Amino acid sequence: MIPGAFDYHKPKTLAAAVKLLTQLGDEAHPLAGGQSLIPMMKLRFASPEHLVDVGGIEGLRGVTREKDRLVIGAMTTQHDLLASGDVAGALPLLQEAALVIADPQVRYRGTIGGNVANGDPGNDMPALMLTLGAGYRLQGPGGKREVEAAKFYKGAYDTALKAGEILTAVSIPVPPIGHGHAYEKLKRKVGDYATAAAAVVLTMKAGKVASCSIGLTNLADTPLLATKAAKIITGSSLDEATLKKAVDAARAIMSPAADGRGTVDYRVHVGGIMVARALKRAASVAG
Ligand SMILES: Cc1cc2nc3c(=O)[nH]c(=O)nc-3n(C[C@H](O)[C@H](O)[C@H](O)COP(=O)(O)OP(=O)(O)OC[C@H]3O[C@@H](n4cnc5c(N)ncnc54)[C@H](O)[C@@H]3O)c2cc1C
Repeated sequence: MIPGAFDYHKPKTLAAAVKLLTQLGDEAHPLAGGQSLIPMMKLRFASPEHLVDVGGIEGLRGVTREKDRLVIGAMTTQHDLLASGDVAGALPLLQEAALVIADPQVRYRGTIGGNVANGDPGNDMPALMLTLGAGYRLQGPGGKREVEAAKFYKGAYDTALKAGEILTAVSIPVPPIGHGHAYEKLKRKVGDYATAAAAVVLTMKAGKVASCSIGLTNLADTPLLATKAAKIITGSSLDEATLKKAVDAARAIMSPAADGRGTVDYRVHVGGIMVARALKRAASVAG
């Protein structure tokens, strides 16, 4: 399959890209790694008349430390995340998730910016961003702004991005040394999107959970933060009764679609199992 005809633009600066997107309006889409957009165009689910390739803009790729945060440029690929010593040291959860996204070919092209800006409930990085309390740096015709990841997702393929805006970086607070983390993803086969997945970041003190955050992938039309479940777990020693209560609370907010990956009941059921597994594994790796 080949996509419909489109005009291709490759601006050299962010200002030029924003100007182009603003002038061309709804018919223009930013193009990053093309690993979601191009398949959508081939399937005719998207048919933009213009693609504005942001891959030629300097300064959008790479990982930098800004005080207590890691700032990852939008054009940083999933492969770059896996190769980064900074990410390995500060945010190992990102590497764990990047490794279960698609296959090496897709990971060489697919970017963190495209993954979080796409708005596909099946993308893995958005739930991680919620779990980690990340912010998204945006630049558009109105200037620069930062939006919390938790406030970015409005619905499937519906985000807080305004016309002409480009996501330039994600800014992630670095969790404390010795934090526990886990991303549990159930998929039908290697390279598939999640049937259900859960991300956990927690800290332990004297055998009890001192802080906890839980994010969910593909269990609603947006990524979810299971705040009630995290509150139930906090202060506990992850005993089976508390774990069950937390899993029930997480399941209560899940509203996945029935699709080729399973019925609603099945996906909620396995979603709960992913939450329990991620909590236990995160606690086991906490130092
Ligand atoms: C076979 C296959 C399997 C896959 N499996 C998974 C999976 O399991 N999990 C997963 O998370 N992903 C999966 N993906 C998707 C992959 O991770 C994509 O790379 C990612 O979703 C989008 O990143 P991209 O850089 O390719 O963005 P693109 O495809 O270029 O863009 C995606 C969307 O985001 C917009 N966009 C891109 N960059 C920006 C920006 N900087 N600012 C504003 N808007 C922007 C585009 O306009 C477009 O609407 C899979 C892809 C393939 C082909």
